[in-house]
Amino acid sequence: MTVPLNERSGLMRIILLGAPGVGKGTQAKKLSRLLGAAHISTGDILRDHMARKTPLGLEVEAVIKSGGLVADELILKLVAERVKEADCANGFIFDGFPRTIAQAEALEKFVTVDKVVSITAEDDQIIKRLTSRLSCKDCGALYNTISLPPAKAGACDKCGGALYQRDDDKEETVRNRFAVYHEQTEPIIEFYKQKNMLVEVDGLRSVDEVTDSIVKAIQLQSEA
Ligand code: AMP
Repeated sequence: MTVPLNERSGLMRIILLGAPGVGKGTQAKKLSRLLGAAHISTGDILRDHMARKTPLGLEVEAVIKSGGLVADELILKLVAERVKEADCANGFIFDGFPRTIAQAEALEKFVTVDKVVSITAEDDQIIKRLTSRLSCKDCGALYNTISLPPAKAGACDKCGGALYQRDDDKEETVRNRFAVYHEQTEPIIEFYKQKNMLVEVDGLRSVDEVTDSIVKAIQLQSEA
């Protein structure tokens, strides 16, 4: 499936939208491999800065831990720099960006996006999933104690690293992230619908089924 899709679609610049925990990160990683496109997660970039305690990392730490949003200007600067890197020449997948209408509008000035995929699910079901999510401290691999458990509890299947729960996946923060999502990010879905760029995919299925639907949705749009 990898090669034909890539050959048919050419350069792909995709935005993955969806509530926190709907599976954007997992799908973005898989699609990045399938399409040979770079995976751009603004959350990962920010967490990397926090882990390295850079001035930027220290500046954003409190906002991220509370579940709020980092300032648009700062995010846009990071993204504008990131898309210039060599691995973005074959296209890229935005995961967790844009998060506000202001970011979506600003993005149009420096990137032409081909498709916007909205992964849908009910809040309650995602909250259950989110609070059971684990990440590997060493390689960043994602697990879920319900839908994607590691073979050995607490250890990464890929590198053996320790698994941990992100601070922003703790219940109180999760609730705040949902409030922020509905207020600030959800309007983006309508923004892209109006522009005829949006495809919607049901996120409450297995990881592979969701990937298949995304690939089909992208192909259908490419052929339309
Ligand atoms: P994520 O891993 O995408 O859920 O991002 C984790 C946290 O990083 C979010 O809850 C925000 O605090 C911050 N963040 C990530 N991407 C953005 C963005 N595009 N705009 C504003 N804040 C962001």
